[in-house]
Amino acid sequence: MKELLEKYPLLEKVRALQETSWLNPHYGLTADQLSLTLSDVVEASERLARFAPYIASVFPETEKQQGLIESPLLRIPRMKATLQRLHNVTIPGELYLKADSHLPISGSIKARGGIYEVLAHAERLALSHGLLTRQDNYAKLAEPRFRSFFSQFKIAVGSTGNLGLSIGVMSAQLGFRVTVHMSQEAKAWKKELLRRKGVTVIEYPSDYSQAVEQGRAQAALDPHCYFVDDENSVTLFLGYAVAALRLQQQLTSQGIVVDEQHPLFVYLPCGVGGGPGGVAFGLKLLFGEHVHPFFAEPMHSPCMLLGMMTELHDEIAVQDLGIDNLTAADGLAVGRPSGFVGRVMKTLLSGCYTVSDDQLFQHLHHLYESEQLALEPSALAGMRGPVLLHSDHRYVQKQKLSPHMQQATHIVWGTGGSMVPAHEMAQYQARGAAL
Ligand SMILES: *Cc1c(COP(=O)(O)O)cnc(C)c1O
Repeated sequence: MKELLEKYPLLEKVRALQETSWLNPHYGLTADQLSLTLSDVVEASERLARFAPYIASVFPETEKQQGLIESPLLRIPRMKATLQRLHNVTIPGELYLKADSHLPISGSIKARGGIYEVLAHAERLALSHGLLTRQDNYAKLAEPRFRSFFSQFKIAVGSTGNLGLSIGVMSAQLGFRVTVHMSQEAKAWKKELLRRKGVTVIEYPSDYSQAVEQGRAQAALDPHCYFVDDENSVTLFLGYAVAALRLQQQLTSQGIVVDEQHPLFVYLPCGVGGGPGGVAFGLKLLFGEHVHPFFAEPMHSPCMLLGMMTELHDEIAVQDLGIDNLTAADGLAVGRPSGFVGRVMKTLLSGCYTVSDDQLFQHLHHLYESEQLALEPSALAGMRGPVLLHSDHRYVQKQKLSPHMQQATHIVWGTGGSMVPAHEMAQYQARGAAL
């Protein structure tokens, strides 16, 4: 640790729980050949399209989008004005919220990767048992004979809450027997909702990494059990990456240009890294150097910042620095980052920064006041991004973006919140308003 602190002086600030911004020194350098390509993301998108008739039939709230699980891209000019006033900065360009908070089925970004991985597994089983062909209308998966087929198989996952919710709801709908291993910060309402759907919920008094480890170990003992491995799953990652293809369409249809004169900044809340990594990776494939992705983490859980800065990735945890991994941002309460996301993002990520819990609640309150959008605390981590970019000009200068900032687009990824019960949301609002 002493060596690390000497080599990376910024670690002192991280350790002292101060707000930290790290600009990636490897950003934009020529990368090793990546093992994942655009055709992998397109394949994932096509798989979701095959399932769309089924999704539309079992989740009626997706009917008007023909069974695609997608969220709106919303311009939030009043919130931009609030941010400028609150933080005494000028934010040139337009500010948008990608409202994954309002994704159907599970109300968080996990409705992308989590649901995708369950569907991919179900498809593999049904195809290999000769019950389905890729040309079929997948609406037939809602028939009782499929539910009874899937009930021979189990699915398990470890989660801080939202991934468990997505995997649990989707797996139970298909007929799988599903177990969710929940870490200490998982909210009671998420566990209750899952139990009502027949999901087995096992609670741990420990953090996310331990819940995952326990889940993985138990699943390994059972050949009929498929473990969704949030720390290592390429399938999850690709499910998240499909968001980039969808966002590209939304940008086009809203007349938003992304090119050299019109840079795109994306601010993504980061837990273990799969969600923000997948989205950022997909956007990089589509927009190259014209998209600038930043990850945002709670001050008490800066695992990706730590892993990427030291290049130790999953070989370092926030606890190694004496940081407690305790935060009100339950979706981001992860102490050790994914084993592969940081490596994939090595030359693609612009930077990482940390935010205090108070800042999350303050922005939560202001977003509701200004735009009537109610998000959970984790989902506000991105909101600090455009403020930082314009209070510390290093990145814009280094990338020579100053002449183009008036035409910039800033997208804050709003990763969850629409399913939070009203009384809990009221408490969040009150905490934010009191600050
Ligand atoms: C899980 C989650 C994230 C981050 O996703 P990771 O894949 O864990 O990095 C962000 N916001 C919310 C609300 C989440 O539930």
